[in-house]
Amino acid sequence: MPSIIAQIKNLTKFLNYDIGIDLGTANVRVGIKDIGLVSIEPSVIAINKNTKEVLAVGNDAKEMIGKTPGYVVATRPIRDGVIVDFDTTQAMLKHFIGVALRNIDNNALFAKIRVLIGVPSTITDVEKQAVLDAAIYAGAKEAFVIEEPMAAAIGVGLPINNAQGNMIVDIGGGTTDIAIISLGGILVDKTIKLAGDEMDERILDYIRNIYGLAIGHRTAEKLKIELGNVCEQKLDKTITIHGRDLSTGLPKSVEVTAEHIKKAILPVISQITDAIKEAIEDAPAEIVSDLREFGFIITGGGSQIKCLDNYWEKVIGIPVKRAEEPHISVLKGTLEALKHVDILKRLKESEDMLI
Ligand code: ADP
Ligand code: MG
Repeated sequence: MPSIIAQIKNLTKFLNYDIGIDLGTANVRVGIKDIGLVSIEPSVIAINKNTKEVLAVGNDAKEMIGKTPGYVVATRPIRDGVIVDFDTTQAMLKHFIGVALRNIDNNALFAKIRVLIGVPSTITDVEKQAVLDAAIYAGAKEAFVIEEPMAAAIGVGLPINNAQGNMIVDIGGGTTDIAIISLGGILVDKTIKLAGDEMDERILDYIRNIYGLAIGHRTAEKLKIELGNVCEQKLDKTITIHGRDLSTGLPKSVEVTAEHIKKAILPVISQITDAIKEAIEDAPAEIVSDLREFGFIITGGGSQIKCLDNYWEKVIGIPVKRAEEPHISVLKGTLEALKHVDILKRLKESEDMLI
């Protein structure tokens, strides 16, 4: 029989919840320390255009698109850069903290909640503060923010505190983040607005120009996920898609090959390649030999384009490895960071420096 003190300790431990949230441009992921991922929802918010009231968040907001009156608009706050709007941020965090708590127990009302939120490295101090305030307002007892490249690096298990240079390339929906990390700090950070969404756009244009066929964004994304590749050897895979013939206005089906999709997305990959090369050029001289030896890790949903690791190894000339669970590297990093007092302390210190 455990002592009363041990029982109380156990109980309070039970009532402490550490929640990790990855505020991505395409998806928001929520997890709980020692449990792992509990939900992935699209980063979409439905707003009443007239009153600015937030009507729904995540899956519910996505459901509303196209089925609601004209005054209801769906936005992607992270991608559109309006995360600074306090009401939106608060509604979002409230929703996602709620999602996490529902996964724990119903008595979580009295729990002491600590949240660590992965935010884009491009956000300003004002925006960071808005996220922190909103998290507290949404019910967290303590809140921290961590820059996504740092979280991703922790999530994939890079030795971020070593003097060695570690490089990570995170290809998300709206942005690609390139970061070089050493001694627990970000040395080089480059964010470009070219990632998965842009590949979808290029596929859409390509199908329109080559086949005279209009397709929707969902179809374009499906083509990218199924056929997206930069493989040296030709992939023998095709998909039949349905769209609207631009000349007749009537429905038409065409068979699309993996070679076509490769051609469509290559310009985007090339631009990301240039940004990676620039980031390497910006690295301090002492780090360059580490990069040559250890290369970089690719992560994020967009890193799943087939053969992307081999392709970059060849065109950039350093080792490239894809993360094991690329879609949840940032979330894993937040949950791992929550286990380390030293990391949290450092995040708290940089928080104290915010205005
Ligand atoms: P963010 O962190 O910005 O929210 P994610 O890391 O969730 O973004 O990545 C989302 C992007 O990854 C989307 O453009 C999506 O279409 C793309 N994606 C998801 N799965 C795959 C796949 N298997 N192959 C290529 N792209 C993919
Ligand atoms: Mg991301």
